[in-house]
Amino acid sequence: MKEKLQNIRNQAISLLNDVKELKALDEIRVEYLGKKGQLTQVLRGMKDLSPEERPIIGQLANEIRDEIEQKLEEVKNLLILKEQEKKLKEEVIDVTMPGRKRKTGGRHPMNLVLNEIVEIFLGMGYKIAEGPEIETDYYNFEALNIPKDHPARDEQDTFYINQEFMLRTATSPIQVRVMEKQKPPVRIICPGKVYRSDAVDATHSPVFHQIEGLVVDKNITFADLKGVLEVFAKELFGEKVNVRFRPHFFPFTEPSAEMDVSCVVCGGKGCNVCKGSGWTEILGCGMVHPNVLRMAGIDPEEYTGFAFGMGLERLAMSKYGIKDLRLFVENDIRFLKQF
Ligand SMILES: [Zn+2]
Repeated sequence: MKEKLQNIRNQAISLLNDVKELKALDEIRVEYLGKKGQLTQVLRGMKDLSPEERPIIGQLANEIRDEIEQKLEEVKNLLILKEQEKKLKEEVIDVTMPGRKRKTGGRHPMNLVLNEIVEIFLGMGYKIAEGPEIETDYYNFEALNIPKDHPARDEQDTFYINQEFMLRTATSPIQVRVMEKQKPPVRIICPGKVYRSDAVDATHSPVFHQIEGLVVDKNITFADLKGVLEVFAKELFGEKVNVRFRPHFFPFTEPSAEMDVSCVVCGGKGCNVCKGSGWTEILGCGMVHPNVLRMAGIDPEEYTGFAFGMGLERLAMSKYGIKDLRLFVENDIRFLKQF
């Protein structure tokens, strides 16, 4: 029996000396010390021994168990250390390697133009106003001097939710909401999404962005309108740009006009971008109609005002020479990277 125990001890120790992996250690532990392990089985046979032999064999078996356990622990620590060293070697950082440049995102061209416009008007003392994208018939039409039977209410252009609610077709309702709450002087710009039932093509989209402006105060005249918008155009397109105003019609302003800037591509000589005219139309404007002021609770005898509105997509297109507005929403990184 002594011999058997010595054999088990020698086998276990020599196996442990050759172990290369932590995983193998567990197998050896089970094989020798486990419930069905070799040492355990020998100890089970002790009941057949004489009472004199029992304590001697018992002591030896305990010594061998302790020795194997100690050796297991030793080898385990050694293997852990080796593994750590190996890992450290593999993960060495070469500080002389060239760095990798992280690419940062850019601003969307629409946001670039919007920020520029907002900055220009903030600099002139305007405040930003916003409003709901779902509007009532009253704010979207009625309060803007577009009564129920007005031809400007072409139903094909409007996304109606029901008889009363619709997606706003312009940012103008914001102007009405501000005038109702705020006594003049009013000086605001209103940027936002607007919706019209248009099919998508190079120059149309059912969702687009507008930015409108409104000034209401005592003694505001058409000369103020022209002055402000000319300064704005020169700040946005450069000092050299010329502007002109053409008479136009809008139900909510009287008189009304459209403003053109000299073509930024050809400088006014005429090219295919401006279709040979030398001009690009960028906004609509006019003196706020007395009916609009009156409906918002402002006395048109005491106050006057002007308003203007422009499409951001169109402005960004003429500023950057973009020919198709679908590019703004296609998220093509090759397009977006250029700004
Ligand atoms: Zn041109």
